[in-house]
Amino acid sequence: MAVKTFPRGGGTIPHRKEATENKAIVVMPAPKEVVIPLQQHLGAPCDALVEVGESVKLGQKIGSGSHVISAAVHASVSGRVKALAKRMLVDGREIQCVIIENDGRDEQVAGKQNETLDGLSPERIRTIVKEAGIVGMGGAGFPTHVKLDVPKPVDTVIINGAECEPYLTCDHRLLVEKSKDVLFGLRAVMKAAKAENGILGIEVNKPDALEAMSELVKDDTNISVVPLQVRYPQGGEKQLIKAVTGREVPSGALPFEVKCLVSNVHTVTAIADALQKGMNLYQRVVTVTGKHIHDPRNVMVRLGTPVRAVIEFCGGMAGNPEAVVAGGPMTGCRIASLDAPVVKTLAGILLLGKDEVSPPLNEPCIRCGRCVDACPMGLTPSMLGFYSEQGMIDGAEALHAMDCIECGLCAFVCPSGRELSDWIKQGKQAITKRNSNK
Ligand code: SF4
Ligand code: SF4
Repeated sequence: MAVKTFPRGGGTIPHRKEATENKAIVVMPAPKEVVIPLQQHLGAPCDALVEVGESVKLGQKIGSGSHVISAAVHASVSGRVKALAKRMLVDGREIQCVIIENDGRDEQVAGKQNETLDGLSPERIRTIVKEAGIVGMGGAGFPTHVKLDVPKPVDTVIINGAECEPYLTCDHRLLVEKSKDVLFGLRAVMKAAKAENGILGIEVNKPDALEAMSELVKDDTNISVVPLQVRYPQGGEKQLIKAVTGREVPSGALPFEVKCLVSNVHTVTAIADALQKGMNLYQRVVTVTGKHIHDPRNVMVRLGTPVRAVIEFCGGMAGNPEAVVAGGPMTGCRIASLDAPVVKTLAGILLLGKDEVSPPLNEPCIRCGRCVDACPMGLTPSMLGFYSEQGMIDGAEALHAMDCIECGLCAFVCPSGRELSDWIKQGKQAITKRNSNK
């Protein structure tokens, strides 16, 4: 099979996945208390559906929102609601949370099980996905039921199995250990979006995942596995679409404009769980790794578990990490508090050493052009960074700042250690705010 990739920019970065890529997922026991944020997604926060003192079951819906872009949240243990209060998330935001004391019984809400997709209409699949509170689990957190309700016909669903961020291996392990669920979830998305074709794009540094998925779809005429070059950011939505279909998503447009819908590996396994087992989204796999963790591994964690407890489950910290990062090192953030809960979008907890973190130098730009060569969106990060840092957002907008996919590669390659992607991200936020007030 030909190995595909995207044509513009990109780069090779150390992948550092060795510590966890060959280890099976381990299930962590539920903690004594969970903190469930009422906003774990892009869009409007949920309203709490429970009161202090109320008993809840595992998987019970405890928050929902009436806004069209929102996603329900569910109890990840059975027990008693101890408090409704604001708590800090890994990114430092203070969000209203439902705090539940675990009674250790795991008494579960009954969910309807469907062995096949035959009796399920596209509308019914979208409703089940909505009720289960499923969002993009690769980090974006966009409510999946909204994504499945495509405004224009699509012909191809693409599963992003690139997992191109260094360190992260949770999607890789799911592809190997839950390959049938990945395929079931892909078929469900194809049915919900009324798309004829399915493609699984997987980077070639996951040969066991490529083999497992290829074997499963070998008799399928409308689903294929496409091996992808190991190249960052291969998992960027636009880069992935270009690599596997040759289609170019225009500036400012979404994938449905080129008849595609992209979903993430973990998201489709959550869809499979919701449809096959009647399970609402109350747990996820998190990669816990880096030089400063005793036992790096992929852990199935109940949502709402404190990051600190997950680190302890993995043997605790080995020495003092230079940084504890949420998500991947290219697009993630330093964790604001170890007491912050695991949420639907948290793919990794990285305990990094000094030599794994590049501190910002912010030396003057030497006009080497490396950031321009690396940018997969064909932008000029040096200028975009300058305009954004200076608050000159008209200039940043004119240079297509809103096309930046926040991959972080420009900052990674910059010999002057300039925080280009952080500045551009702030510039984008300022442009969005200014335009929404117009
Ligand atoms: S962060 Fe934005 S500007 Fe920088 S390389 Fe990625 S897409 Fe280009
Ligand atoms: S990589 Fe850094 S030093 Fe080189 S042009 Fe870009 S901003 Fe300037």
